[in-house]
Amino acid sequence: MSDRTLSPTARDDRPLVIAHRGASGYLPEHTQEAKALAYAMGADFLEQDVVASRDDVLIVSHDIHLDRVSDVAARFPNRRRDDGRFYVRDFDLAELKTLNIQERLNDDASGPAFPGRFPLGQGQFRIVTLAQEIELVQGLNRSTGRNVGIYPEIKAPAWHHQEGVDVAAMLLQMLAHYGYESKQDPVFVQCFDAQELKRLRQDLGCQLRLIQLVGENSWAESATDYDQMRTAQGLAKLARVADGIGPWIDQLYTLAEIDGQPVSSGLVRMAHDAGLQVHPYTFRADAFPQGFDSYNELVCWFVYELKIDGLFTDFTDLTLDILRSSR
Ligand code: CA
Repeated sequence: MSDRTLSPTARDDRPLVIAHRGASGYLPEHTQEAKALAYAMGADFLEQDVVASRDDVLIVSHDIHLDRVSDVAARFPNRRRDDGRFYVRDFDLAELKTLNIQERLNDDASGPAFPGRFPLGQGQFRIVTLAQEIELVQGLNRSTGRNVGIYPEIKAPAWHHQEGVDVAAMLLQMLAHYGYESKQDPVFVQCFDAQELKRLRQDLGCQLRLIQLVGENSWAESATDYDQMRTAQGLAKLARVADGIGPWIDQLYTLAEIDGQPVSSGLVRMAHDAGLQVHPYTFRADAFPQGFDSYNELVCWFVYELKIDGLFTDFTDLTLDILRSSR
């Protein structure tokens, strides 16, 4: 067993491998099966996206909606909102537990988002609460002797506040209950909303490591100005609150006009200069960003050229294979 598997809280010779929604390249995202598989594959951290149910239970789900990943429309046809969507927030845990979770649909729900992955509608998978997932990770840590971390994301905090629920405060309380209280503990808390991250640190007294996710202003993910954030000044300001950034892969490079080869955008260096770690998303072996021809090339360029500190991947196993064989 290497030092890395015992201590995911400090960087040594390779970046942290964060299992994005679990082993989501192989099993429906955020199911217990996908998390157990990612754990077995050797992930350093397992990611949880966190939303609230009607009865104020923290649920692990990427979307505030249920319709892209479950059979909710067939089972509760009358529970859609005016926008046609089904919301986790409109269901009690007992109802959520009756849903079949399945492989993610694409944006217009016409087919699977990733056609080569787990077959749509096959298998029996259930929605997972955050408490259940933490107990899975801590139970496995005990039975294996490893120290795998958790990496919860507070989803749509402004929307949740409108719905009358404070997910950040509930999350901190739950993390404290399970022993996650300081920067030394194996946890990162992530959020796209800079105001909420600041609130966690300054108003809610959060001592944990915080990661500011970085999107594009055009995504309308939050009121945060990501263009301003990606300047030296913006990053220096952010470093007073956060320990790192989680940028989108495409924000870290451009393609050279002369030969089409990837070139650093400078963001990793600027973030490092500000004292921030960099954990980009999302590394997928079945969908490469422009300019890369293989998964090996993609991982190696970001790790050895850009020197990122961690990465979110749907493919923990392939990523670790590459990191081990390319050292
Ligand atoms: Ca996430």
